[in-house]
Formats: sequence, C-alpha cells, structure tokens
Amino acid sequence: MSDENAPLSRFRFQRMLEMLEKKEGRGTELISVYVPPGKRISEAMGDLRSEWGTAGNIKSKTTRKNVQDALTKVMERLKLFKEVPETGLVIFAGTIAGNQLGVGDMETFVIVPPEPISTYYYRCEHRFMLEPLYELLRAEESYGILVVDSKEATFATLKGRRADIVREITSGVPGKHRAGGQSSRRFERLREMHLNEYFNRIGRYMTEIFLGVPDLKGIIVGGPGPTKEDFVKGNYLHYELKDKVLTVVDTAYTGVEGVKEVVDRSRDFLKSVRYYEEREIVQGFLRHIGHDTGLATYGEREVIQALKSINVRVLLLSEGVRRALVRLRCKGCGNEETRIVDLDGLEAFEENLGAMRCRECGNEVYELTDKEDLIEALVNMAEEADADVEMISAHTEEGEMLLKSFGGVAAVLRYRQFQ
Ligand SMILES: [Zn+2]
Repeated sequence: MSDENAPLSRFRFQRMLEMLEKKEGRGTELISVYVPPGKRISEAMGDLRSEWGTAGNIKSKTTRKNVQDALTKVMERLKLFKEVPETGLVIFAGTIAGNQLGVGDMETFVIVPPEPISTYYYRCEHRFMLEPLYELLRAEESYGILVVDSKEATFATLKGRRADIVREITSGVPGKHRAGGQSSRRFERLREMHLNEYFNRIGRYMTEIFLGVPDLKGIIVGGPGPTKEDFVKGNYLHYELKDKVLTVVDTAYTGVEGVKEVVDRSRDFLKSVRYYEEREIVQGFLRHIGHDTGLATYGEREVIQALKSINVRVLLLSEGVRRALVRLRCKGCGNEETRIVDLDGLEAFEENLGAMRCRECGNEVYELTDKEDLIEALVNMAEEADADVEMISAHTEEGEMLLKSFGGVAAVLRYRQFQ
C-alpha cells in the first residue's frame, strides 16, 4: 500500500474487509484459501481437490453440497491464474446465508493482497478468515532495525510483522580482555580505534540501506549491552537518519534472534507512534478552531465546498465515517442535486426515492444517477484539489472527538474563506 494513493487504497481495502466480515454461512461452509507467492498453482489445486474429497464425509447433506460447490468455485478461479501473483492470492467462496430460511447465494471473491502474504491456508468455517488481511492493513509503514553489540551488527527492514534481514557484519573488534604481554593502555587504544572504525562502517551501511527506503517512518536500535547507546550517541549516523532513531531497546541476543526481539518489543511502541501522529494532526486542526483563525472548517457540505474552491491543505477523515454521496436528477425539469445519507440507510433511501418531491418543480420523478462512498468521493476531490489526506482512527481521544464532535470530516485550509 505504498503507492501514491495510499490513503484511498487503504480505505478501499478496509471497507472490503468490513464487507466480507459481514458474510456468514448457515453452517461451517465458507471457504478461505490463502496462497503465498512462489507456490505452484498445480500444487494448490491438488490440495483443494483432496479437500473436496474429504468434504464428502460431512454428514449434513446441505452443508456437504455447499462446501463442495464452494471448493469447486475456488478451483475454477484458481485455474484462471498461470502463476500466483507477486503478493500471493486469496480466494473466498461460499453460500452466504440469506434472510429467508434455506435461501442463500453462492458468492466468490478473489483478492490479490496489497503486500506479500506468507501463509498457506485452507479454512472452512462459519465466516471467512480475514485476520491475515487485517494484518496487512496495519502494516503499511516501513521501519529500519539495527541490532548491534561490539561483535556484530545486523540490519533489517520492518513492514508490519515482516522483518527482512538486509545485511549482517562482524566488528573485528578484539574482546575486552587483552592477551598476555600487551600493555593495557595500548590495548585500550587499539580497541577504541577498532570500535571507531566499526561504528563508521555501521554508519555507512545505515546510509546505504535505510536512506533509500521510501517513507521510512523511523529506526529502532537494539542489542545487548551499552554498545548500541555508544553508537547512537556518537557522530556516526547520516544527519537525516539521526532524526529517525525512535527508540533504543535492550535485547538478549544479536543477529536474527535480536531482530525478532526488537520486533516483538516495539509493536506497542510503533502503534503509539501512529497514534501520536494522528493526535498531532487533529490537534493542529483544533488549534485553528480554538483560536478562530478562519483556517479550518468541518462538516460534509463545508468541506466539499472548500475542496471545490481548491482551498484545502489537509483533509482529515475519520475512519468511522459511514456515509454515502448520492447524486439525483429530476426527470421532469433536469434539476440535479447531491444528498449525503448514512450507508446503512442507503437502501431505504433508494426505496423511497419515488415518493420524493423535486426541490425545483415539485414532481416526484427523481432518478438516482450515481452513488459513492463519501470517503471515497472526498479523497478523489482532495486529489483533484492537491490536498493531503489524513485518515484518522478513532483509537485516540482526538480521533474520537473528530468523529463525534465534527462529524468525522474536517479540513485545514490554505487561506481564509469569506463567508
Ligand atoms: Zn424537477
């Protein structure tokens, strides 16, 4: 999800998962299949065929039929691929329970994940298995990891839960205990020199490895003992990277094990980094409101107006907004207008459309010409207006305030608007 339109693709992905989450089978009969990159299609097909055979043992006749039908659908879709896409492939299929008893529709969903998946899963459950995809959603930011002690240094990149080791080097620095016969002062001096050379080398690798990572959010340094602090405090890091060191953590190990420890220990910390950013963004907006600078606005109509006048610097959208933008046209007089309705009320709105009077001519001949998720519509407008988009979760007090007190839609403006 590191493309230019990251907030929108992230949002679409999230809404798709929410849609899938609502699907339920009448029995244990919804199929989820995760195929990682590199897996051969023929191998996955073989496994699915054998699952189809096993499903023949299911006692309930309806469930058995539904499971086997779903597996057939998955295999049909899988067959359309010559090879597994670079990020893997996820297929869901099953008979979704309808409102009426015994009535359900077979539905199939094929998803190419936005980031590589590493799991090979087959699941048959009451619902689709979405957790690995939700994990990807949480995982779009990149971090650098350095695990270092006086003997070795390991460089890794972290995206979500996935840490990739980029390089491992050894120090060549002699141990703390000198060999017999060496003068201790000379030994210390030599050790210092080696250590300095080693730190410089680490610094160069850091530049080489991390300076080029797009959207690097920060660097976490770990390791046993005080070497990591000595390195961070010294003047060995490129100035752009120096600002990115977020935290230093103690680990028991170095190398690959040390990197794993860093990942485990920083999970909560990294979550708090994003929350911190979100709070800052909302607070920036609130300061404008509080000081009445005229450089902020909120509310759906107001923000849309500001976007249309190319006056939005930052568009703040709460992830909790569940609204749709509906475009109507009167068949009598040609009058066009837009309405914003709750996503949950959209169906009822469409059903009642025939009874709505046109605001211009009073006839009851509205037709719906377009409907769009409000967030999607706003993000598209923001793109046209060259505004930054910030999706804000409701996990912080400020995020909750944005949703509850400001309707989840707000903007920091470029210039004051004359009302
Ligand atoms: Zn009309």
